[in-house]
Amino acid sequence: MKFTVLSLFPEAVRAALDFSLIKKSLTAGRIELNTVQIRDFSTDKHKTVDDSPYGGGEGMLMRADVLHRAWASVALEKGVAESSTDESSLGSTVSAAVHTVFLSPQGKPLTSEKARQLASFEHLVLVCGHYEGVDQRFIDLCVDEELSIGDYVLTGGELAAAVVVDAVSRFIPSVVQNLESVNRDSFEGGLLKYPQYTRPPVFESLPVPEVLLGGDHKKIEAWRKEQSLKVTQEKRPDLLKSD
Ligand code: SAM
Repeated sequence: MKFTVLSLFPEAVRAALDFSLIKKSLTAGRIELNTVQIRDFSTDKHKTVDDSPYGGGEGMLMRADVLHRAWASVALEKGVAESSTDESSLGSTVSAAVHTVFLSPQGKPLTSEKARQLASFEHLVLVCGHYEGVDQRFIDLCVDEELSIGDYVLTGGELAAAVVVDAVSRFIPSVVQNLESVNRDSFEGGLLKYPQYTRPPVFESLPVPEVLLGGDHKKIEAWRKEQSLKVTQEKRPDLLKSD
């Protein structure tokens, strides 16, 4: 699977993913990460990417034309869009394998279920806003969905894009070789994971629960189910409410 991140600070996205399992998966070619510097698609000599909002108001907005050229360069790169250079028609010519996500505090919340869904695309294009945000026309023309990583406002979409790459990659079978462990993680089946313990058997007078040391796998499984339910009730009762 390929991720392409469009950003004014691509080095921030790369730095945030340059360790542990994701770094290994990138090095091994199990996933691919391309970054595109949006500023390279500015056409004026000052490399301007933003302007003040029509109607007044605070801050600067990223320009739709600059963003559109950056986005189109990715779509056209592999021949997934028709070779039209008519900017107004590109949005409808991108292959179904390419899915464009705009990171935004206004987006739908990123959940485990959403990350699993996104892992089914061949190519995810993640667009990072900055400053006050982006011109709405870019979103209307090019974006398939807006995603938020939480109800707070970041200075830019870079960390959010890195979060999406990490969360989605865990659902790619070659990345996490033990998919069984992913399927037993928190949020799978609507519950949080049970408490886990390793050596030493007693730490600061706190023993590991007896059942985990007994070797009876049926009892261990039953204990884990019960604990999952208990911690979900305690920490995230909202997960147990049916729709
Ligand atoms: N003015 C915008 C608003 O009130 O909705 C916020 C702009 S924010 C300062 C700049 C950029 O950071 C956004 O365009 C978006 O790409 C990113 N961003 C901020 N918070 C985010 C969040 N919770 N999830 C995903 N992206 C976020």
